[in-house]
Amino acid sequence: VKNISKIYQSGFNKLTVLNNISFEVAPGETAAIVGPSGSGKTTLLGLCAGLDRYDAGSITLYDSLLSELDEDGLAQIRNQHVGFVFQNFQLLPTLTALENVMVPMELQGALNAKKKALALLDKVGLADRATHYASELSGGEQQRIALARAFSNNPKILFADEPTGNLDTETGQKVEQLLFNLNRDAGTTLVLVTHDLELANKTEHIIRLKGGVLV
Ligand code: ATP
Repeated sequence: VKNISKIYQSGFNKLTVLNNISFEVAPGETAAIVGPSGSGKTTLLGLCAGLDRYDAGSITLYDSLLSELDEDGLAQIRNQHVGFVFQNFQLLPTLTALENVMVPMELQGALNAKKKALALLDKVGLADRATHYASELSGGEQQRIALARAFSNNPKILFADEPTGNLDTETGQKVEQLLFNLNRDAGTTLVLVTHDLELANKTEHIIRLKGGVLV
């Protein structure tokens, strides 16, 4: 990430939410983006994952300069390399836990999607909830389903927005363990947004934002 700036424009108002941010995370490393509410953490995570466009600077993700890619190119990079866990999970409430993990895999043409999705549910300790609708799951369970879905394309890099936010201590620790196991066992690069400084301190890089500036 090199000299990144992001400006949101609504009407005549321009809001610079990120100002000249630079940092680097090497493959297999772990990093936490921290800072006060509104400091630009979620925005930065979305830019790094190719979910949104930046206004200045450059972001290179596994040898691809994101600003050079069109929407199809970005989608391809995301499908190939990126897992993303959203702050509010973004599960489809009318699909079961299994379908939430399986459907994206099927859309990407994965073979044996059901078998793989069941294995992922088992990994996050929710095999027994496979046929439950997402709307019937607790917050912590939904968070773990969202993780299983994010793992489903064997991402090289996982971006997670507040993965342990809103979870009780025990469930938070379970989720944290899943993330660090993934990093240790599969070498997946982790970039987390978190308010939990204990979690941030377990990562190799802390990227601290304040008012859109790297401090
Ligand atoms: P939190 O910890 O509360 O989740 P954050 O550090 O993740 O906050 P962002 O969500 O990145 O902060 O938002 C940074 C700033 O950009 C905020 O002031 C927010 O109001 C503004 N913002 C975010 N998304 C948009 C948007 N789509 N359009 C306009 N402004 C936005």
